[in-house]
Amino acid sequence: MKKVSSLKYYKVKCPVCGTPNEFKGIKPKAYVETGRDTDFCPLARDWQDSKHRIKNPLLFLMATCKRCFFTHELNKDLIEWKNHPEFRSPAFVTLKRKHLEEFKQKNGIIKRMSKSLRPCKDPFSTAVIKFLLGIYDESLKPAPSYYNLGRYYLRVGWIFREERKKEESAWIKENLTHQSLGETLKSIQVQHADYLKKMKKLKEEVQFEFESETKSIKDRSDFLIDHIIKELNTLKGSLDQLQHIHQDYQNKPLANMGNDLFRFEDFLFALKMQWHEIPINEKEALELSLANYKKSLTQGLKENQKIRISYLIGELSRRIGDLNSAKEYLDLAINVGQDFIQKNEDDPLKTALAQRILEMAYQQKEVISRGRERVL
Ligand SMILES: [Zn+2]
Repeated sequence: MKKVSSLKYYKVKCPVCGTPNEFKGIKPKAYVETGRDTDFCPLARDWQDSKHRIKNPLLFLMATCKRCFFTHELNKDLIEWKNHPEFRSPAFVTLKRKHLEEFKQKNGIIKRMSKSLRPCKDPFSTAVIKFLLGIYDESLKPAPSYYNLGRYYLRVGWIFREERKKEESAWIKENLTHQSLGETLKSIQVQHADYLKKMKKLKEEVQFEFESETKSIKDRSDFLIDHIIKELNTLKGSLDQLQHIHQDYQNKPLANMGNDLFRFEDFLFALKMQWHEIPINEKEALELSLANYKKSLTQGLKENQKIRISYLIGELSRRIGDLNSAKEYLDLAINVGQDFIQKNEDDPLKTALAQRILEMAYQQKEVISRGRERVL
């Protein structure tokens, strides 16, 4: 496969099975985000090289071993894992043992999930599965990082959202084309009916006008008008057939819309029977994200992280329709944020992000109070 310039290749031996891998990652500074949703989901990206823009960079956030499917975030810790204490800790030894035990199971969750890894053919499903494999491995640790689990589930939610938007816009685009085609066809049919009416009127006028004329003029005119009317009726049959084809085609995308997404949801649902922590849609991914973020608040986060996470729990609760929890955590973000800003008032650089999140928390509380909450 041709190497594109937005990607960087990292040669890493799998810390679990020792297999040499070449992981693809997005080059640092390959793009800048130019817009974010209220849960920080990137809305637009400005690529340094537009020819090598990548549809969804989230596909490359996790690295999966090609042999044992051990999955970890593709970061400095993984690339230099031999020098990192995490990979020599007893916790990692436990993870490694549990991972290999599960991997050896013929119908184990790792083998079943890995069947969906087809990055070129199906980047959407592959991106979701890579995160789920990473979540699975993180959960095998005796003390998993709930902060990371929250981050990974949130990104799964974003991938679902992006795919749904893509399906919706493709459907709208296709429907608009059908609409315009239908309108053109209708206007031709109206013009045709009008033309036929005018020809019939012409026939009456000719008969009246040529009544006193010689028979040959009248007969020739009648013959020609009858011929045109006959041709117009044939034309009507063809126009009707065209109309039927158009109607059949118009019904098709409705039936096909989201089929791939539904099939993937079915696959995830089947996996969920084996491992309950699998989300099958955006809403479930956000629910799992906020449940893990809530647990992460007790894991000794830094103060500025706590502001961000409290805000996110509030915003994700709002999105799934749990408005009481949304208000509670948006208030928590505001309180922790105000304290942090007061304590660091001499350092505007340090407080800038907290200030921004505080504004967002007020904004989202306003959205709730106006009853404009978005429920998935
Ligand atoms: Zn491996």
